[in-house]
Amino acid sequence: MKRKILPARRTENITYAVRDIVELANKVKSTGNVEMLWLNIGDPNAYDFVTPPHLIEATHRALLDNCNGYCPSSGIGEAVEAIKGEAARKGIRNILDVFVTTGASEAIDICLTALVNPGENVLVPMPGYPLYTAILSKLEVEERPYYLNEEDRWQPNLDDIASAIDYRTRAIVLINPNNPTGSNCSRETLEGLLELARKNNLILFADEIYDKLLFDGAEHISLASLDPEVPVITFNGLSKNYLGPGLRIGWGIVSGDKSELSEYIEAINKLLRARLCANHPIQFAIKSAFEEDQSHIDDMIRRLTIRRDMTVDMLNAIDGITCVKPEGAFYAFPRLHIDEDDNSFVKKLIEETGVVVVPGTGFGQKPGTKHFRLVFLPPEDVLQKAYSQIAEFMKRHYHA
Ligand code: PLP
Repeated sequence: MKRKILPARRTENITYAVRDIVELANKVKSTGNVEMLWLNIGDPNAYDFVTPPHLIEATHRALLDNCNGYCPSSGIGEAVEAIKGEAARKGIRNILDVFVTTGASEAIDICLTALVNPGENVLVPMPGYPLYTAILSKLEVEERPYYLNEEDRWQPNLDDIASAIDYRTRAIVLINPNNPTGSNCSRETLEGLLELARKNNLILFADEIYDKLLFDGAEHISLASLDPEVPVITFNGLSKNYLGPGLRIGWGIVSGDKSELSEYIEAINKLLRARLCANHPIQFAIKSAFEEDQSHIDDMIRRLTIRRDMTVDMLNAIDGITCVKPEGAFYAFPRLHIDEDDNSFVKKLIEETGVVVVPGTGFGQKPGTKHFRLVFLPPEDVLQKAYSQIAEFMKRHYHA
């Protein structure tokens, strides 16, 4: 008798709401009954944004020059130097190690894997990007939520963080600017976070993948720039700022005090060596990204500001929805003031209107609150249609 090949228990709690919702949306699409309006995926290239041509040219040259073999596990020298140069421009000092990976995702996975043991815990923002939940699940490590304060522009709640720390806590994750809220941390919040890390001997993981996408002239402060002594790993990549999520190039920058971090850095490098290297030819795009024309960034901010303003104005005009104004990235996380839960709200919305958003549950939210996440990357005419559909849907079901 044949027995089932069962998956490992560690995969049981792994979900990724952003992609999971697509299954339902594709079913609705196949009926042909409604026009699909996709506001669910944080991929600028799926809309009207394109990779700057000099990144492609640099990669093309590398491919023709036969840079198609394996390269050093930490990445090619010129990319590592370019990343260090950019880190210095952002005020990050005491850099101990830099490594290039298959997207920031791989850097995050490797750094968590090299750090935590089952039985320990890591503090993760809620709402936050679900990759952290998935990796910690895989590692059988407890993810301990700390909440972002919706009433305070979605700033991390420092008291909440302080009370969540115990002797088994190893790290605090900060996503700044945040996905899914689009919030940008104040200097005061960052300093408070550093103080907590110092006091409790913790390492900070600073995911700054949206650091160049800020609106209204706001400044982004790199967490690692404020105190060169506190251990921080800063994550970034080409996916968002440089409009190339499918290029799958990211990196990690370890900064802090060498005497504290040397064994951990060696463990990270063991894991980097075990997976050989990141995509070699595309690493040539990194220097070109940082050192050549940056005009796509201003262009992107200009276009996204219009779309962000439209999003906030149209959503806040709907009875039963409130939306904090995003300060960066390209996400909004509107709150639902209805009796139904966000999963069934989103399911019904997709089925009836074709507007695809992601339930707030997929990012974590304060108990008792309900949200959904949308991307305001689509052009204005798509957003206009989507928000009008949401307004009618709300009237029909909740606020007639
Ligand atoms: N970190 C955050 C906060 C993100 O929102 C994303 C993608 O949406 C990633 C990391 C993944 O980055 P990458 O494409 O470099 O793996």
